[in-house]
Amino acid sequence: MNNVMNVNPSQPSKKTGIWLGMPPPIEYQQQYIFIDNMNELLNVDLNNAYFVIAAAPAEQDELLLYLRKQYTTGLCLIFVTAASRMSPYLANGLFGEDVDKHVDKYLHKKSLVNLYYEKNHEFTLLTYLWLHPDFELTPMKDPQGASLFYYPIFEAWGISNVDSFALLAQLQAKGWLESTRLISRVRFSPCCHSSHLNYIDVCPRCFDLDINIMASLHCFNCGHIGEQSAFRDAGVLACPNCFTQLRHIGVDYDRPIETHSCRCCHHMFVDANVQAQCLECDEKHALDELVVRNIHTYRLAQSGRLLVIQGAMTQIFSEISGNVMDSNQFYWVIKWQNELARRHHHRHAIIAIKVLNLDEIVSSELSFLQLQEFQERLSSIVRTTDACSQFTEEGLLLFLPFVNSNQLQSVYKKLTELTSSLSQEFQFQFNHVELPSEIGIDVKSWLVDNFVGLE
Ligand SMILES: [Zn+2]
Ligand SMILES: [Zn+2]
Ligand SMILES: [Zn+2]
Repeated sequence: MNNVMNVNPSQPSKKTGIWLGMPPPIEYQQQYIFIDNMNELLNVDLNNAYFVIAAAPAEQDELLLYLRKQYTTGLCLIFVTAASRMSPYLANGLFGEDVDKHVDKYLHKKSLVNLYYEKNHEFTLLTYLWLHPDFELTPMKDPQGASLFYYPIFEAWGISNVDSFALLAQLQAKGWLESTRLISRVRFSPCCHSSHLNYIDVCPRCFDLDINIMASLHCFNCGHIGEQSAFRDAGVLACPNCFTQLRHIGVDYDRPIETHSCRCCHHMFVDANVQAQCLECDEKHALDELVVRNIHTYRLAQSGRLLVIQGAMTQIFSEISGNVMDSNQFYWVIKWQNELARRHHHRHAIIAIKVLNLDEIVSSELSFLQLQEFQERLSSIVRTTDACSQFTEEGLLLFLPFVNSNQLQSVYKKLTELTSSLSQEFQFQFNHVELPSEIGIDVKSWLVDNFVGLE
């Protein structure tokens, strides 16, 4: 039995509630296994386990970190009876009335996971976000730490802070993760990647720290600029350079905009140069040398959800044909058959079947069972041909060799009959391309051009 078959609304999965910390109140003692020594966890079947922690804040944070660190409990549903410092980042909410509903939903989502995530940080995060849809990956402020912000769940999984930012960028570039809110922007020194920086203003000529603000004057007669005190002579203002008496501001003299002077090189200037001094190693950097990083919150994107359950979807369609290939094989076959078709005047077809509301379907157990029914009937239609298939984000692609336009019409007719017999919850879309065709160098791009944008 595959994990899709296990989903049966009439038989809720057996769940194991584990209570940690202080013993549970009497009304929960039947329902929960109480554990006060974590070694006892080894004797419990953790397959459908979820946790409730009732402990003093510091101990609770330790327990949370411990559970998240273990492979067997790292992605588990964990409730706390009261919030603690780490609970918003490592737990899945407060223990309350609707816990049972929450657990059922979690176990259902868990049954749909078909991504092998062990030792793969990317997949671990995607699976975690799939299992806990209310969880937003949120950075925690950490004034002592070198990065100022970090993601506690990554720390629990042994992902270093530097790696975690790279990981998030990769996941976002692949479209599996999307950022939701911009929390802050942090600047890091290029020397040791510390964000503990001290911003200092220095002389723009000699870069000395010893600068000061002073009142100065500008003599119109000779152009001399100097400190105001040097212009005073027996109660009147006179230029120390050309000795002209300065009577009227705007006529004889004015106040220059250079209000800073350097005690080291005596340079006078308007704006000081600002440098960032790394507090770890004392190195000074110009501001444009600093590494800038935006700190976001994240959630799972549509294609990330698809990836987590894609194994399950592939299984659903796998009975259609024994020839489920990996993408590169599939593209190679298409290209090769296209060449042959051109030479020998063959005609082939590629049909794309796309489930438009996959998200809704996987969150509803009933529809998922119906999708299996669809799969069985679909195989009866296409099995007669030697189809090979590939499941992509564009949908299920079926390569139907030696299918001409007329035969294609009858395949379409059967597919339409099939889908109209299903409940309204499903939204399918069919499309096709015929070979031979002008594919160009890249089969994948050609398929995307032909099948994407059909919504
Ligand atoms: Zn440094
Ligand atoms: Zn002068
Ligand atoms: Zn200077």
